[in-house]
Amino acid sequence: MRKQKGRLQKNRIFLTLLLMSAMMLSVALAAAVFLGNTVITSFYGDCGVFDATLDSFAVMMERQIANQKKTLHGYTLLLHAAGDRTPEAVRERLTQIADDSFTALVWMDEAGNSCSTAEVALSSEETEKARQYLQEHPEGDAAVYLGSCGEDMTFFAVPCELQEGAQGMLAGIVPAQIAMHHFTREVVTPGGRLYLLNEKQEVIFYAGDASRQFRYEQLDGNRFFDRGLTPFEQVKTLFGEWQELQRAEVIESLLEGNEILWYEKQLLGEAEQAWRLLVSRPAVMSADSVVTISNSAILVAFILVFSFVLMLILVVSHGASGMKLRRAAYFDMVTGQHNWTWFQLEAGRLCSRKKKNTDYCMISMDIRKFRIISDMDGETQSDAVLKKTAEVLKAQLGKKERFSRFSVDEFAILLLCGSEGAAVERIHKMDKELKKQELLHGIEFCYGIYSIADYGMPIRKMYNYAGIARDCVKGSHEHFIGVFDNSMREAMIREKELEEHMEHAMKQREFLVYLQPKYSTDGSRVGGAEALVRWISPDLGFLSPGEFIPLFEKNGFITKLDIYMLRSICELQAGWQSLGKELITISVNISRVHLMNPLLVQGIINLADAYGVPHQCLELEITESAFFEDKEALSGIVRQLRQAGFSVSMDDFGSGYSSLNSLKDLPLDVVKLDGEFFHYGDNRERSETVIKDTVSLAKHLNMTIVAEGIETKEQVDFLHAIGCDLIQGYYFAKPMPVLEFERLMGYRETE
Ligand code: C2E
Ligand code: CA
Ligand code: CA
Repeated sequence: MRKQKGRLQKNRIFLTLLLMSAMMLSVALAAAVFLGNTVITSFYGDCGVFDATLDSFAVMMERQIANQKKTLHGYTLLLHAAGDRTPEAVRERLTQIADDSFTALVWMDEAGNSCSTAEVALSSEETEKARQYLQEHPEGDAAVYLGSCGEDMTFFAVPCELQEGAQGMLAGIVPAQIAMHHFTREVVTPGGRLYLLNEKQEVIFYAGDASRQFRYEQLDGNRFFDRGLTPFEQVKTLFGEWQELQRAEVIESLLEGNEILWYEKQLLGEAEQAWRLLVSRPAVMSADSVVTISNSAILVAFILVFSFVLMLILVVSHGASGMKLRRAAYFDMVTGQHNWTWFQLEAGRLCSRKKKNTDYCMISMDIRKFRIISDMDGETQSDAVLKKTAEVLKAQLGKKERFSRFSVDEFAILLLCGSEGAAVERIHKMDKELKKQELLHGIEFCYGIYSIADYGMPIRKMYNYAGIARDCVKGSHEHFIGVFDNSMREAMIREKELEEHMEHAMKQREFLVYLQPKYSTDGSRVGGAEALVRWISPDLGFLSPGEFIPLFEKNGFITKLDIYMLRSICELQAGWQSLGKELITISVNISRVHLMNPLLVQGIINLADAYGVPHQCLELEITESAFFEDKEALSGIVRQLRQAGFSVSMDDFGSGYSSLNSLKDLPLDVVKLDGEFFHYGDNRERSETVIKDTVSLAKHLNMTIVAEGIETKEQVDFLHAIGCDLIQGYYFAKPMPVLEFERLMGYRETE
């Protein structure tokens, strides 16, 4: 009897499994038919997270590489000054000057003499690489390539002249495998890999297990991996089409194993020397993200495999080993709490089962200035902050509420709240609790609320909405909670639309240069002009910069646009120069996003020189607020630009928090008084005093003053009387197309 019952039960389980398989099979087939050959769930949706994380990581790596090169250059100066010639003398000197920036230093001259501070002599392969480098870069900038002395090593090499004319090279060697920093860990999930490549697609640094082979087959089926290739050679082959790939692209690929999809990102924008970050991850699927592939058969197979794995997990998860699997798949190593994958599943489940009168709000929470904490206090401390934050959140939530970490310092929270007001109250309570913790002392949080209107919407999308609301208060000192409303949704849709068009628009030259002249205060002379971009699109119409510049600053496209504008101005100047016209200085706006790029200055010099434009005819406008973010770094860039002969101006002076005194500390050529200064409001007298003081201080410091946004004769007269140098405003002229400007300047006959 019992036996029969047992069998019956087994049969029932078997039948259920069979039924489930059949159901999933039909769902998979229906999906494939419905979606044609276009859709596969994948990690496209995670790109936002990747983008942010990779950005931080990229900046870190760029800094590290720049520092290492700088250190090496420093060493070469010391060697040159000492004038030591023999390898023995050089070795001794190197041992003295070396600090722990490099594992070893290697010196070599044209004649093949060499020495090294390493215990072990250089391998013949390394010597050969170094020699090759020396031949290829007789006087070039530093370059990097991979060595192979047992471990994977990276070479940084710079030219090194011991005496006039005697060429040589100094190389610093460091391990190629980098430690899993916060940022790296965020993208390189267990089993994933991250590579930093140089322009030749050679791996310079990597994180994760790089020794694993790829079993890769491109979807068009015409490229297989030769089994003889090393993993690094495979990476090189995979990304052979260096020129064709764009930034932040998901390269569609399927691997035989459990690993799919690459995320790649080009660093340093337009700069001469470009690096790439490549990330490969295990195929952890998130429910709402979509990537297009062209083979529906693969789609069906994929969904089937996925369904079976899911079933297997369901069945196995009842046992002890199932627990382990779940732990690995659903837990966040840093906080020790559940992860985003779990959150999406759980939040989805709760939303789909919610009762009629219970409503949820999605919250996005961010730790302000987390980068600073992690840079200054180190990884252990910043991990502890995240862990503590997660613990407090957990204690604050009810039975039917969920949370998880979303990215480095962002948390997603699903709160059971009937209204936005109730959510605000809960957040205040949570924030208070967080601030009570000793470990979180001094840390600020900001929050975004999306009161869920459509429960069928993917969780990721709800979180995005909350994130948009949060972004609205991110920079604010007064507010730390933002609430999502419809205008934000519309703005987001618009942003998406612009993003879809921008790359194509640049290729089609839809971005046009407008020029606004800067007049002497008596209106008799044009002393310069500012280049201002306009986007004239056949699909979107006429767009002024306010509509797209903030977006481009957010998504990084601004670096391309600024260089495009700079190039356009160089082209124009070169054209006028060839006609024998006298050039005036034209200013171009350089976004703060660009200022992270250590190769920016060299890039600008190269561009001007390529067109033969005299450097003093170019001015770079940097907005006032950029000076507060990283004054040290920015002052360095300004100094370099001025040394190269360019003029540098502080744009929008007076719009932010800068005091008059800050002018004294900054090495600038031009100050542009913000137009707001002249919208006196009630306090005209006070405004005029400030303007007068600014002008006289700037004069004292030998700076040129440009007043912006000047619209009335009264303002012009006042500026003339106090000795302002130039006026840029509608009173004299609005920004105009190039043709009109050429007529104004007499560069072209009026037709
Ligand atoms: P900005 O650099 O402060 O440029 C001056 C802005 O004031 C321009 O707005 C100009 O048209 C406007 N303006 C000039 N005279 C007057 C006036 O008398 N009255 C009023 N009400 N406005 C005046 P525009 O062209 O709309 O540009 C807005 C901002 O977009 C610029 O402010 C600049 O920050 C940014 N931008 C424009 N082109 C570029 C670019 O190529 N690269 C970057 N990074 N930013 C750009
Ligand atoms: Ca400007
Ligand atoms: Ca301005």
